[in-house]
Amino acid sequence: MSATNNLSKSVATLTGIGAQTAHRLEKLGIRVVQDLLFHLPHRYEDRTRVTPIGSLTAGMSALIKGTIEFTDMLPKGRSSLICRISDGSGFITLKFFHYTASQHNLFKPGTVISCFAEARFGYAGLEMVHPEYKILSDPEQDVTDSRLTPVYPLTEGLNQHQLRKAIKQALALCNADLADWIPESVLKQFSYPSLSEAIQTLHAPDESVSVEALQNGRVPALKRLAFEELLTHHLTLQQTRYKTKAWQAPVFIRDPISSTHFLNSLPFHLTGAQQRVIADIEADFKHAHPMMRLVQGDVGSGKTVVAAYAAMLALSAGYQVAVMAPTELLAEQHFRNFTGWFDSFDTQVLFLTGNIKGNARKIALQALADGSAGIIIGTHALFQEAVTFNRLGLIIIDEQHRFGVHQRMALREKGQQGGIRPHQLVMTATPIPRTLAMLQYSDLDISIIDELPPGRQPVVTSVIPNERRDEVVERINNWVTKKKQVYWVCTLIEESEVLQCQAAEKTAEYLMQALPNVRIGLIHGRMKSAEKDAIMQAFKQHNVDLLVATTVIEVGVDVPNAGLMIIENPERLGLSQLHQLRGRVGRGSDASFCLLMYQSPLSDTARHRLGVLRDSNDGFVIAEKDLELRGPGEVMGTRQTGQMQFKIADLSRDADLLDSITQIGEQFFINSPHAIQPLIDRWLGHATEYSEV
Ligand code: ADP
Ligand code: MG
Repeated sequence: MSATNNLSKSVATLTGIGAQTAHRLEKLGIRVVQDLLFHLPHRYEDRTRVTPIGSLTAGMSALIKGTIEFTDMLPKGRSSLICRISDGSGFITLKFFHYTASQHNLFKPGTVISCFAEARFGYAGLEMVHPEYKILSDPEQDVTDSRLTPVYPLTEGLNQHQLRKAIKQALALCNADLADWIPESVLKQFSYPSLSEAIQTLHAPDESVSVEALQNGRVPALKRLAFEELLTHHLTLQQTRYKTKAWQAPVFIRDPISSTHFLNSLPFHLTGAQQRVIADIEADFKHAHPMMRLVQGDVGSGKTVVAAYAAMLALSAGYQVAVMAPTELLAEQHFRNFTGWFDSFDTQVLFLTGNIKGNARKIALQALADGSAGIIIGTHALFQEAVTFNRLGLIIIDEQHRFGVHQRMALREKGQQGGIRPHQLVMTATPIPRTLAMLQYSDLDISIIDELPPGRQPVVTSVIPNERRDEVVERINNWVTKKKQVYWVCTLIEESEVLQCQAAEKTAEYLMQALPNVRIGLIHGRMKSAEKDAIMQAFKQHNVDLLVATTVIEVGVDVPNAGLMIIENPERLGLSQLHQLRGRVGRGSDASFCLLMYQSPLSDTARHRLGVLRDSNDGFVIAEKDLELRGPGEVMGTRQTGQMQFKIADLSRDADLLDSITQIGEQFFINSPHAIQPLIDRWLGHATEYSEV
C-alpha cells in the first residue's frame, strides 16, 4: 500500500487511537491521517536550552536547572509546598498546592532539579507554580530536547500527549509522498520548502527555528502553507468564474432611443464614474456569457441609477429583471425609484415580498410568468419562492455584503432557461480592501464608482461622550428650528432585535420629554412593513423632524433634508457599518453633521477607531483602517462570508502574500490545471458546495 493511501486512511488505523479518540478528533475536523498533518501547533515550548534563572522575566516559559536551597510547607489556607532553587545566576521559588509526602522527601536541599513552566511574579519574587520537573541523580545530565515541543489546539477529552503521539505516526507516513501541488518554480521563487519539509518543520522544529519566529508566522514553512491555503481559496473562486464564463447568456445591445430617453428623463447628469461603470456593463452585455459584475461605490455615490440603466438595457432587449435588496425598506425604496424611472416605459414594475398575499400575489406572479411585468423588486425571498419568470435576463443584487458568497453562488443557477442564464450585477457600499477583494470577490469583475455626485459636502463628524447628552439635545432643538431633520440611531451590542427595539423605544420616549416641540418618529426592525413604510413616508414628507431608529436604516434610505445624525454607542459597531449609517446624511447640498456619542470610558483602540471616522469620509480609507485595527476576521465577519475561515492562514499576518496569489493563480490555470481540484479537496474538504450550489 502506498504512503498516499496511508494518508487517506482513517485516523483509527493509527496505534493508540480507538473509536472514542477518533470521534473526538473529528470535532477538530480530523478524520484521515493527512488531516493530522495539517493540524498545526498553535504554540511551541522551548526546552532546547536551559535558561539561567537570573535572566528569567515574568511571563517567560523556560527550562531551568538549579539546586534546592530549602523546602518548606505553608500551612496557611491550603497547605502548599514551596521550594527555593538557585543556579548561581539567581533564585526562584517553586510552588505546589497539592503534593505528596514522597515529593516532600525528594525535595531535599542540595538536590539538583530541572523544571519547565511559566515564571510569574509571586509573593517572594519570581515563582513557578506546578512546574513540570525532573529530579536529577546526575547534576550534569542533559535535560534539553533537540526540538521545540509542539502544543496543539485540543478539544474536550483529548490531551497533548495523545495528539503528539498520533501526529508523530502521521509524520512517519508523510515523507515525500504527500503530493506537493505547488510547482518547483514557485517554491524557488519564494524560497519555500517542499510541503513535507514544511509540515515536518512545523510539527517538530529543530533548534535552528526560534519560537518567536514561529509564533509570528515568519518561518518559510508556515508561509508556504498559508500561501497554499490562500491560493486555493482564490483558485476556487477563479474556477467558478471560468465556469460561468462558459455559460450562455442573452446579448443586450444598447438601443439608442431607449437609452437617450432614459437618461433625459433623469433629474441629473450621470457622473463620470457612473458613465464609466455603465460602459463596463454595456461591454459585458455584448457577450453571450453571463456578466458577473460587482459595482463598489461609497454610500450616496449613485449605484441605484446605474443598476436601473442596466435594467433598461435588458428590458429593451425583451428580457425581465429581478432586483434583490437585503431589507424590505430598501426594496420599497428601489421600487419607488424604479417605478418613477420606468414610468414612461411600456412595462410593469412589481414589488413582491412575503407580505403580499392572496389575489394580489396571484396577479403579480401571473404578470411575471406571462412577461407583462418587466421588473420585479423584492428581498431575497424572491428567489426562495415559486416565482416563475417569462424571460429573466438580469439579476441585480443590492448591498451584496449582506448576502453571503454562498447565496450569490446559489443564485447563479436560478433563472436559467434552456441553458441560457441571466446576467448578474451586484452592488456594495462596503468597500473591501483590494487585498481582501481578491479572496472574496475574485469570481466577479469589479467596477468602482469613485466619485460622488457634484455638490456633496463631506459630513462633519465629532466624537463626544454620553455625558454631554444635554448639549446634543439642545443642538437637535436648534437644528429642527431651522426646518431641518435629524436621525438618532440606537445601537446595541446584542444581536437581539427585541432588545435593540426596546432601547430605541426608550430613547424615543426620553427625547419626546426632552424635546416637546419636536415631532418624533420611531422605526425599528420589529415593526410591520406597512408601519415602517408609513413612518418613512412621514419622515420623507417632513411630517416627522426626528427619526429614532435602530440600525435598520443602515442601508438605502434617502432623505436629503436630514443633515444631522446622532449615533449612540458607536463604539459597538464596525467602522464600515458606521460609515454606512453616516452616509444617510450629507445627501443634500448643505453641510451636514454626525455626532458619535460614546459611552465613556472609551478604550484606546475604540478612541482611535472613532478618530478614523471623524477624520475621513472615504469609505476605502475607512475600510483599510478598519482592517488594520480590527483584523480581517472581524472585518469580514463569518456571518457575512460563510467561507472566510482559514485553517492556517491569518490575513493580518499573511496579507503580504495576497499580491502574488492572483498572479500565481493565473499561471495555475495554464500550467497546472490538474492540481486545482486536489488542492481544493485538501484545503476546503470536499466542500465544492460554494461553486456548485
Ligand atoms: P447609493 O450608491 O448609496 O445606493 P443612491 O443610488 O441611493 O446611492 O443615490 C444617492 C442619491 O444620489 C439619490 O438621491 C440619487 O437619486 C442621487 N444621484 C445619483 N446619481 C446622481 C448624479 N449623477 N447627480 C446627482 N444626484 C445623483
Ligand atoms: Mg444603495
